[in-house]
Amino acid sequence: MLNIDFEQEDWMLEGGCVYSDTELFFPVGSSMKAMKQANEAKAICMECPVVTECLEYAIRTNQDSGVWGGTTEDERKSIRRQYRKTGLVING
Ligand code: SF4
Repeated sequence: MLNIDFEQEDWMLEGGCVYSDTELFFPVGSSMKAMKQANEAKAICMECPVVTECLEYAIRTNQDSGVWGGTTEDERKSIRRQYRKTGLVING
């Protein structure tokens, strides 16, 4: 069972992942299985009505594991660097 530590915000209840398998969003390691899980999670994010809020939250609260706002932890590193410089969350 995953123990995920984050503060609940209202937008989270609208997330496309609410009724999805939590493990998809927190793949472990870099195996093919983990990459497939991350891609499945990101596909759900791309249809999610709160993807912007989710990514902003992940950057603002320094979520360093899992898929948030359609990004993996590695993808968020550059977004986080940009955020520290500009105060803006820019994906892509
Ligand atoms: S963007 Fe992805 S991780 Fe965030 S709430 Fe939506 S489905 Fe969940």
